[in-house]
Amino acid sequence: MNRVRLLTFNSALPVLDYKVPDGMAVEPGAVVIAPLGPRQITGIVWEADRLPGEEVPAAKLRAIVEVLPVPPLSAALRRLIEWTADYYCAPMNSVARMVISSGGALTGPTTMTEYRLTGDEPERMTPQRLQAIDLLQGEQATIRELSELSGVSEGVLRGLVSAGVIEPVTVAIDRPFEPADPDFDVPELSPEQREVAGRLVDAVKARAFAPFLLDGVTGSGKTETYFEPIAETIRMGRQVLVLLPEIALTENFLKRFEDRFGAAPVQWHSSLKSTERRRAWRAISQGPQNGGAQVVVGARSALFLPYADLGLIVVDEAHEVSFKQDDGVRYNARDVSVMRARFECIPVVLASATPALESLQMAESGIYEKLDLPSRFGGAELPHIDCINLTEEQPERGRWLAPRLVAALEDRLAKGEQSLLFLNRRGFAPLTLCRNCGFRFQCPNCSAWLVEHRLSRRLACHHCGHETEPPATCPECGEPDCLVACGPGVERIADEVAEILPEARIAVATSDTLNSPERAAQFITEAENGAIDVIVGTQLVTKGFHFPELTLVGVVDADLGLEGGDLRAGERTYQQIAQVAGRAGRGSKPGEVLLQTRHPEAPVIAALAEGDRDAFYEAETEARRHAGAPPFGRWAAIIISSEDNAEARQAANRLGDSRPHADDLMILGPAPAPLALLRGRYRYRFLINARRNVELQRIIMDWLATQEFPPGVRIGVDIDPYSFV
Ligand code: ADP
Ligand code: ZN
Repeated sequence: MNRVRLLTFNSALPVLDYKVPDGMAVEPGAVVIAPLGPRQITGIVWEADRLPGEEVPAAKLRAIVEVLPVPPLSAALRRLIEWTADYYCAPMNSVARMVISSGGALTGPTTMTEYRLTGDEPERMTPQRLQAIDLLQGEQATIRELSELSGVSEGVLRGLVSAGVIEPVTVAIDRPFEPADPDFDVPELSPEQREVAGRLVDAVKARAFAPFLLDGVTGSGKTETYFEPIAETIRMGRQVLVLLPEIALTENFLKRFEDRFGAAPVQWHSSLKSTERRRAWRAISQGPQNGGAQVVVGARSALFLPYADLGLIVVDEAHEVSFKQDDGVRYNARDVSVMRARFECIPVVLASATPALESLQMAESGIYEKLDLPSRFGGAELPHIDCINLTEEQPERGRWLAPRLVAALEDRLAKGEQSLLFLNRRGFAPLTLCRNCGFRFQCPNCSAWLVEHRLSRRLACHHCGHETEPPATCPECGEPDCLVACGPGVERIADEVAEILPEARIAVATSDTLNSPERAAQFITEAENGAIDVIVGTQLVTKGFHFPELTLVGVVDADLGLEGGDLRAGERTYQQIAQVAGRAGRGSKPGEVLLQTRHPEAPVIAALAEGDRDAFYEAETEARRHAGAPPFGRWAAIIISSEDNAEARQAANRLGDSRPHADDLMILGPAPAPLALLRGRYRYRFLINARRNVELQRIIMDWLATQEFPPGVRIGVDIDPYSFV
C-alpha cells in the first residue's frame, strides 16, 4: 500500500488520507501515528472503500510518521467496529476508542522500576521508617504502590532508597501471565452436564460460528459445564473470553477458575490500574502462541479488545441488564458478543437460568441452539417459594418484615443456617422529609430524591453522585431534629434484623459495601465459612453466589420492580426473584423462599410461587407480541439534552416537527424524560416503535440529519433501550 485512509479517535475529524513512505510496510488494521497540522494523531489504517470521505489529491498527501508496535486489528474486529457503529447509530471513532482502550499499550515492550527492601537497617530509625520496613516485607512495587501498601509517604520511602534500605529493580512492564492447565483438576460431570459439555466442545473444535443458549436452572453447574469447552479452546492454543455482569462476581469466578485450571485468568474491568491495563491489553493482542493471554474474564468492555486468536465467547448470566451500556456508545454486550462470534467464526454461549425473552425467541426460531440443564447438580432440590400477603400478614408498626418471615429467620439462626434478605434498594431510606413542613430532600442536579446512607452519614443521589451531610435542622423551615426517613433500604432492614436477632452476625451486601475486589472476596469467604448468619443485599447478591448453608431467602418487597413504567418490568422482576430464590438450598439442605407482596395475584408473582416458568414466559411473550415490543417489534429512544431547559425543549420541538411518517413506525414525543433533569442537563425524549422489517437506524440517522443543533445540545440515540428514564 502506498496510500492509506485512517480512522481516528476523534469524531470531529473527517477521514484522513496519507501516503506511506518508501520502505514502510503498512497493512489494514495497523495502528499508526500521522501528522495533522502541527500535531500528531493516532489512527487505524482502514479500507478506503469502507470509510467514505473526500479523497485528498496525491500531491497534497503527507506521510505516515510511524507504525506502532502492536499487531494490526484483524478484519473480523474491523467489521465488528463498523457493525456496532451502524447498529447503535454511534460514531465509528467512539467504537474504535473502546478497542484501543489502553493508550499505554501502544508503546512497545518497555521496562519499569520497582522497589523492594534490601534487608539493611537504616542508621536513623523513625516510627514511620519502622512501619514501612514492617509492612513491606516481601513486597515489590512502584514507590506509589509501596506508599499505599504501607501507609507511609512517598517522601519517607525515597529517604529509605537514599539510605540503601530500599533498592530499585528494573522489570519488564509486561510480565507474562501464568499459563492455565486445561487438565489441572477435571471434575466428573453428571450425564446431563456431559452431554451439554460434549456438544460445546465439538463446536469449539469445528471452528465455525455457532450461537448457543445454555439454559440451566440455578445450581445446575453451568460454570462446570462451560469450563469444558474453555479447556478445549486452551488445548487448541486459542483464546477465550468470559463476560460477567459484575466485578463482585469476578472474585467468585476467579476462585473457581483457579481450582479448575491451576492459574488465574486475565482480568479486564474498569478498576484496573493503567499498568495492569497495558499488560492485559498487550497479552490479549499477542495471543497464547506468543505467550499472551489464554482466558480473559471481564466486564462488557472486554468484548472490544483486540484478541489475537479468539476461539470461544461465554456470556454468563446473559440476561443481566448490566451488559447494556447506557452512556457513550449505547450497546448491549450480549448482542454484540453474538456478532463478534459471527465475525470471528467461533461459538458463543449465552448462559442463564432466566434467559431474556429475546434469547429464548432466537432459540425457538432455530437461530440459537438451546442446551438444557434442567436439574440441580448433586440431587439438590429447587427451593419451595411461598407468598406472604402483606395486606393480611402485616409487619409490626414501623417494621418491614412480616411475622412469618421473622419466625423463619429465628428458626434458621437457631439451626445455625444462613438467611438472605433481598431488597433492591441501597442505603437506609429512599426518601427523607421534614416532619414539620414536608420538605423533601431532592438532588440539585437531577429529578430524584436523595437517598439516606446512614452507615456513611450522607444523603446521596444515585444518579449523579451528589452528596451532602444530613443537616441538623430542616433547610426549609429551620426546625431542629425533624427529619424522617421514609421507606426501607437495605441498611434499615439490617437494623431491624439486629433488633429482632441481637446475636445474629449480619452483613449488608451492596455496591456500597462490596466496592472493591478485595471486599467482595472477603465477603464471599466469610459467607462460605459460616461467619455470617444473615445477608441483607441488593441485586448484587441475586446471582452467581453459591453458599451451601443458605437455606432461607426472604424477598422484602416483591412488588418493587413492577412499580416503574419499564417495558421489561415484568421480565426483570421474574428474573431477579428467580435468581435470588436460586441462592437457597444449593447444598444438601432444602431451601425455602418467602416473597412479601401486596399483589400475590399478579401474573409474575403467581408464576414464581407456582414455579411455573413456562407460564410466565408464555404470558410475557403474548403481551409483547400484542404491544409490538421486542422481540416482535423494535424500540429506540432519542434523548435531547442541554443545560438550558428552553434550548433543549426548542431543539426537541423542532426535531419533532420534521419527524418522518411511515406506516410501520410510531414516534412518541417529544416529552420531558422521566428523569427530566440528570446531572444538570434537561432532557426531552422521543420513543420510537417500529415493525421488525423497518430500517430503523437509517430512518433515525436521516431524521437527525435534517437538523442543525446548537453546540450546547446533545443528542443520544438508544437502540433497543433497556432503561426508559
Ligand atoms: P449455576 O451456575 O448453574 O447456578 P454452579 O456452576 O454454580 O451452578 O454449580 C453449583 C454448585 O455445584 C457449585 O458449587 C459447583 O462447584 C457444583 N458442581 C456443579 N457441577 C459439578 C460437578 N460436575 N462436580 C462437582 N461439583 C459440581
Ligand atoms: Zn443527582
